[in-house]
Amino acid sequence: VVIGEHRHTQVTVDLQAIKNNIQQEMQRKDALTELWAVVKANGYGHGIIQVAQAAKQAGATGFCVAILDEALALRAAGLTEPILVLGITEPEYAALIAEKRISVAVGSQEWLNQASAVLAANNVKIPLRVHLALDAGMGRIGFQQPADLAATVAQLRQANTLFDFEGIFTHFATADQSDDTYFMHQLAVWKKLIAVIGELPRYVHVSNSATSLWHQACNGNVVRFGVALYGLNPSGTALSAPYKLQPALSLTAQLTFVKRLAKGQSVSYGATYTAAQDEWIGTVPIGYADGYERRLQGFHVLVNGQFCEIVGRVCMDQLMVRLPHEVPVGTKVTLVGTDGDRTISLQDVADYCGTIHYEIACGLAPRVPRVYL
Ligand code: PLP
Repeated sequence: VVIGEHRHTQVTVDLQAIKNNIQQEMQRKDALTELWAVVKANGYGHGIIQVAQAAKQAGATGFCVAILDEALALRAAGLTEPILVLGITEPEYAALIAEKRISVAVGSQEWLNQASAVLAANNVKIPLRVHLALDAGMGRIGFQQPADLAATVAQLRQANTLFDFEGIFTHFATADQSDDTYFMHQLAVWKKLIAVIGELPRYVHVSNSATSLWHQACNGNVVRFGVALYGLNPSGTALSAPYKLQPALSLTAQLTFVKRLAKGQSVSYGATYTAAQDEWIGTVPIGYADGYERRLQGFHVLVNGQFCEIVGRVCMDQLMVRLPHEVPVGTKVTLVGTDGDRTISLQDVADYCGTIHYEIACGLAPRVPRVYL
């Protein structure tokens, strides 16, 4: 990956905001409930290692990631806390997973059988840490049938030199919605499933950010705190958070070119924008290759505290904005963040694109350097 170190386009991440969000959440919990920071997808675009270290300083006692390589990256950075891979890993890597003391989600007995063979063949001495995934209605991974679950738990407990049955968890599909009908259904399914396993393992966890914020009563003893630690409301705008979430990310650039466009002249591919009168146009060095989506034509940025419309198509690496008057090349452009008394949030960008802020944040390309405050 080539990072644009010599271009004035950057993501700025306020690590103190992340720490504040985590501390606010931890204050709401009893002392026995742990917070594991979800730092998958490069920390939702914010930078996996920097976010993990900040989260740890704020009191997070573990991490969740999506894929094995992310867990390995955290270990390589020297983090020794529990790390859970939330997705299904390939059993062929069982020896590596065990040796790195990484915990993995397991959703079938078949997976255990395959991993057993790999562990035995490699003569691995460290038990592989297993969190059983229960599918209570998310429909993605995990056990649905009590009988399968009970048989797997029995196998795990028997093979205790190969496996460390460390955790059990589920994931809610609708914890971010005001209608809790489906949530209550999932909760009932989860309770019915865990009833068959007897003594619970050390870590029991059901909460993403939304469950932790709005359904605190059923947290288990670990919260998998993701989007809210970045200061983003998991519900978008549907529900209000119990405390003020502080967004950590801003996205800024500088004008590279400023010109006067005569009435009737057009801008960008397809000539979809034509000046209705003489006007000032600025060029911003960011485009869809940076994760600033092409669909954002017609949206706005902030220049000197004023909203300026994005005119013409967003190109791969550049876009054009209409300025209220001439401003110098090098003037700061805020695409996400605050300038003066106006703010553009990731939520605003996502709304315009018809998506969720999660997608915008983790879509910001590695080409854009991350700078930490
Ligand atoms: N737990 C699981 C299983 C997940 O897949 C995710 C992320 O999608 C999270 C927790 C964190 O969710 P959120 O970012 O909404 O807090």
